[in-house]
Amino acid sequence: MNIDALNEWLPLPAPGTPLVIAGPCSAESEEQVLRTAHALKEIPAVKVFRAGIWKPRTRPNNFEGLGELALPWLAKVKKETGLLTTTEVATAKHVELCLKAGIDILWIGARTTANPFSVQEIADALKGVDIPVMVKNPINADLQLWIGALERMNQAGISKLVAIHRGFSVAEKLEFRNDPLWRIPMELKVKFPELPLLCDPSHITGKRDLVQKVCQKAMDLDMNGLIIETHPDPEKAWSDASQQVTPEKLLNIISSLALKREYS
Ligand code: PEP
Ligand code: MN
Repeated sequence: MNIDALNEWLPLPAPGTPLVIAGPCSAESEEQVLRTAHALKEIPAVKVFRAGIWKPRTRPNNFEGLGELALPWLAKVKKETGLLTTTEVATAKHVELCLKAGIDILWIGARTTANPFSVQEIADALKGVDIPVMVKNPINADLQLWIGALERMNQAGISKLVAIHRGFSVAEKLEFRNDPLWRIPMELKVKFPELPLLCDPSHITGKRDLVQKVCQKAMDLDMNGLIIETHPDPEKAWSDASQQVTPEKLLNIISSLALKREYS
């Protein structure tokens, strides 16, 4: 698949802007979801709305997402704004509920990509349904594991596949929350030149002030788009508060990007 093939199912923005997927780390309330989506629909590059409903938290006793209760809010986003919707799935049950709720695109999170049993469970639940699926890299720096997850989707009949680079866990936190190890997504790009590759600067940096810099790097490396966590009041976010940006800040970031070539 190439970026033109992506255009068949994802309305790409006007030439000169990358595709942007934006929305909160987590759906927190109907008001927060709709308020964010209405602000984002004013940004031409944003074509898809993201919000986590089932949150894979590293440690227990944190907010784990509102679950299926939030699915109708995403349907409302689509109806009111025309944005496509996407959320993370980690189990067959999540897939079943998303398909029922009319979610447009599914994504597999970094912790799930690292577990072939879970990836296969999702692939089995998707047999016969050709919904677009975005596969984040595994949390560990293992290109084969990332490719394996993409292959499991492909073998289940998923033809609309996208890879998302969100960086890799490291024991020592340096500048970024997750080490981008740019050579790994670049190797994927060389192996699968037709596979659309997006960058997730929010989870790479862990810090909103560094998001712009990583977006620019992704554009310089010819990645096909960005997925950026956006919240109307980031400091009060229920998850990933330090890395989310407001819709206004997102617009500044997108407008500031120097693009090597036209995205069309
Ligand atoms: C997310 O997108 O909110 C998320 C949990 O991402 P990741 O799987 O990359 O940690
Ligand atoms: Mn997040």
